[in-house]
Amino acid sequence: MDLFHYLLIWISLAGLCLGSFYNVVILRSLSNESIIFPASKCPKCGHRLYFWHNIPVLSYIILRGKCYFCKEKISIQYPIVEITTMVLFVLAFYKFGISTDTIFMIFFFSCFLIMTVTDLKAKLVDCNIAIALAIGGIIWNFSHQGFSGAAGSLLGLIAGALIMEIIARSGYLFIKTRAMGEADTYVAGALGAIFGWQNIGLVLLYGIIASMIFIVPIFLYNQYKNNNKTTCILSVLFVLSILSFKGPVQNYYMLAILIILGLALSVSILRGIKKDENRNYLPFVPALTAGALFFIFFNINF
Ligand SMILES: [Zn+2]
Repeated sequence: MDLFHYLLIWISLAGLCLGSFYNVVILRSLSNESIIFPASKCPKCGHRLYFWHNIPVLSYIILRGKCYFCKEKISIQYPIVEITTMVLFVLAFYKFGISTDTIFMIFFFSCFLIMTVTDLKAKLVDCNIAIALAIGGIIWNFSHQGFSGAAGSLLGLIAGALIMEIIARSGYLFIKTRAMGEADTYVAGALGAIFGWQNIGLVLLYGIIASMIFIVPIFLYNQYKNNNKTTCILSVLFVLSILSFKGPVQNYYMLAILIILGLALSVSILRGIKKDENRNYLPFVPALTAGALFFIFFNINF
């Protein structure tokens, strides 16, 4: 076996084991417990687990997703986080090979994963992880690697935090509150420190596109449930007119219709957000993570 495949096996195993540890970090950071103590126990019956209950993925299969003692269902989050960590580690290794870049990427991806899961689960993001991510990004760029060099990294940190804070505060203009949480500003700053000021705009744009793909369908579904017919009809018309638009812009009547429909839809959506009591529900860190991963794997050629 050559060195690459030998290392690949070890990186996969490390991914599974660290994924198991990240599950503990996620659980304890949501319940404010220490990470090291106490020893792992069933959250339902409190029984101390045997060592073979803690094997990544395998234990979940052997125990058939239930606690060995009280038969309480074990969250599917555990094997999903373990497998996702492994996949991210392997992807980092394929992209960056045998290099220190791979180690930095593994650190970045780990932070992304933990913050994404806590944001999805409880709309909570530990800002300390975002700060650790920013420090990692600065070190990576200072050590003559990275995307943008030392100065670019520091400027990116400021630019990322500033752009996100402006977007968040623009919420005061039409919904009289922040449009996004404070953690999003920390995370955007950290992404700036990793990608540098030259790239942070594009990374954030990818994040916004990702949020459109995931968040807008959820939003429209809520509008449908709340019987907001105007928004629903307008979005169907808008999508239909985009689909009927083929090739370059030739038909100016069609373009005019598209612009009018788009504007009407935007106004209708903004009104919907203003009325929606659960407007803070939508987590944005997963979208930022998706944007960062897309940039790393599709925009950068090492
Ligand atoms: Zn139990």
